[in-house]
Amino acid sequence: MDWINWDLAINRKYYINMNKPFTTVSGIILAAFIFSGCGTKKNDRSADVLLNRKVDSVLSLMTLEEKLGQLTMYTSSWDVTGPVMNPKYREDIRKGKCGNIFNAHTVEYNRELQKIAVEEARLGIPLLFGYDVVHGHRTIFPIPLAEACSWNLELMQRSAELSAKEAAASGLNWTFAPVVDISRDPRWGRVAEGFGEDTYLSGCIAEARVKGFQGSDLADSNTLAACVKHFAAYGAPVAGKDYNSVDMSEISFRQDYLPPYQKGVKAGAATVMASFNDLFGVPATASKYLMTDILRGEWGFTGLVVSDYDGINQLQNHGVAEDAQHAGELALTAGVDMDMQSGIYSGYMSRSLEEGKINIAAIDVAVRRVLRLKFRLGLFDDPYRYLDKAREDNIVYSDEIMEHALISARESVVLLKNENKNGRKILPLSNPAIIAVIGPLADNQLDMLGSWHAAGDHARVITLLEGLKRKFTNSEIRYAKGCDLYSDDRSGFKEALDLAKKSDVVILAIGEDQEHSGEAASRSIIDIPGIQEDLAMALIETGKPVVVLIMAERPLTFPELNEKARAVIYAWHLGTRSGEALADILSGTCNPSGKLVMSIPRNIGQVPVYYNTKSTGRPFDQFYKYTTKYIDVPNGPLYPFGYGLSYTSFDYGNIELSDTIMGKNDTIKVSISLRNTGNFDGAEIVQLYIQDMVASLTRPVKELKAFKKILLAKGDEVTVKFTITIEALKFINGNLDYIAEPGDFKVLIGPDSQRLKEAGFTFRYN
Ligand code: BGC
Repeated sequence: MDWINWDLAINRKYYINMNKPFTTVSGIILAAFIFSGCGTKKNDRSADVLLNRKVDSVLSLMTLEEKLGQLTMYTSSWDVTGPVMNPKYREDIRKGKCGNIFNAHTVEYNRELQKIAVEEARLGIPLLFGYDVVHGHRTIFPIPLAEACSWNLELMQRSAELSAKEAAASGLNWTFAPVVDISRDPRWGRVAEGFGEDTYLSGCIAEARVKGFQGSDLADSNTLAACVKHFAAYGAPVAGKDYNSVDMSEISFRQDYLPPYQKGVKAGAATVMASFNDLFGVPATASKYLMTDILRGEWGFTGLVVSDYDGINQLQNHGVAEDAQHAGELALTAGVDMDMQSGIYSGYMSRSLEEGKINIAAIDVAVRRVLRLKFRLGLFDDPYRYLDKAREDNIVYSDEIMEHALISARESVVLLKNENKNGRKILPLSNPAIIAVIGPLADNQLDMLGSWHAAGDHARVITLLEGLKRKFTNSEIRYAKGCDLYSDDRSGFKEALDLAKKSDVVILAIGEDQEHSGEAASRSIIDIPGIQEDLAMALIETGKPVVVLIMAERPLTFPELNEKARAVIYAWHLGTRSGEALADILSGTCNPSGKLVMSIPRNIGQVPVYYNTKSTGRPFDQFYKYTTKYIDVPNGPLYPFGYGLSYTSFDYGNIELSDTIMGKNDTIKVSISLRNTGNFDGAEIVQLYIQDMVASLTRPVKELKAFKKILLAKGDEVTVKFTITIEALKFINGNLDYIAEPGDFKVLIGPDSQRLKEAGFTFRYN
């Protein structure tokens, strides 16, 4: 049987009667939609009415088993020989018992699966194909934590857009991204996937990413449905241990952790993923408070909620479900529409229905959301729309995407140190005759892809060594590994040291591999593993200039090395074009402009260390013992949030405020002059922070409220302007209301969260 388009489908299987009154549930959905003020534009409204009718018409044809199948998603996997899938899942697709597949990609394979759903299953409802396209699909961009250091929202939106284009060309229509979990604890391996410690910045990136993935039309075959995850507060597991409990006050949750999810939802994310953790004593997967009250009630989310992998089944381990059936009931009742991998909805919900533990309306609501998404993606019009082999061949690894991977990698690099010695800085390198390239990550392809690298092919990665060879064509490039990442075998030191002594400069690449970051990769000690730091110290002792590149996916601790090294770059795992980007930075072809989005601690004991701490009753005073501090380590981190150097220097002028008083509907205009005082053109990320001086609750000592990335030619000066609106003054008060309280506010501006200029006067909000 050939697939038939929607119009034909109407005649054939799906019945749509435009005059038919709404079923009760669709009526409610529609009414909620209209009353929530969403889609008040006439066209949107009628499109939505039509969509709901289409959905209802399909729903009316479905058996209970087929309905539960639409709420079920199973994984495919990959073998060395190619894609493989549990034969039972294929059979389930055929029988209408599985409506969604993840981890399957390539046009050829997904077409084969889609064909089963569309041409062999009774109703022919197309499959959704989901995948973790977190930082690229085949062409891999920097890990999200690194790319966030660009503070370049347009760039990050473009990365998402191009990832979507490449993934959609490979047969996918849904990405499990963006990850918007706020993370203040670098022990947690998944800090790599998010955007760091700051709520405001992460929210801006969440919005950009959703827009990038989804574009303006989900049915465009270059876009993917986005999935804001992991809802909620997954980034704050106790002691940084993955999957661990989360425990925090509701004020902190709403103030610091919740906003990025909300921004992603507001940007139109089609789906949200429930997190593994519990919060306020309830696992998110079973939390009606999160999945329905906040998400749908407070935010008006109308999309689809999916569980995390096997998350429903895990409710038994959490100790809130007696058995699998009970787990399914809890999740469905909470508002989790789709069951990823545990097979509980399809296995047990019919029994729950018979026993009266759930009702059919709950199932229908969830099925509607799945069908709605399939309609919105255009799958009912053409289930093969993402499955065009010629398009795949043209788009995957296309110049446009590969070029962006290089631009993004360059902007993600953070220069931490570039010390002057005898009037000279090591960086940028000036035509060294012999360059020694040393370290276990210097000629490494796989780890440069980073964790969650989707279908990235490490054979395509340009390593640091290769990048340097291509860039420094007039230099002699020599390589020695020196040591392994994790062993304590020092036998390679001699070769590395001999090489260093004969060279003009040493480029040292050390850090972590991709397996030590990402999911299930929490570490209790976050130093540079193995004997790599010893190798670094020995190389520095040769007296040769050494540039230390730290390639990792989380802030690592390296205080001694930092002290000794003259040049340090946080080089992350930058993706497919890592080596070229780093060579561009080292050569000065590209001036580094990245700034940290997570503080780098001095030692593990400082964790969690983040810039926007609360004011305490005994504020830090280095000369007075009885204040908020440690006695064995300086108070602040090694490098603070927002920090990053350039090859040029910038001078900040004085902050000008347009007024001393701000009313409810007013704004305060802020301006500051910025001058490039160095010898290179460069980009500076100007950061504006606010301090709420007195409030009904303790408030942070400062909070990022705005930023601008400014490209300035050497010698040039600009006035950087910001506008403060009431939004920047709001916080969650003791009644959990989001409000601005009257009072004084301090404005601070600078190149990072520590080196800040203060406005000459505070302004008062009345
Ligand atoms: C992760 C999710 C991911 C899912 C599917 C889970 O283990 O927590 O982030 O989307 O697997 O791959």
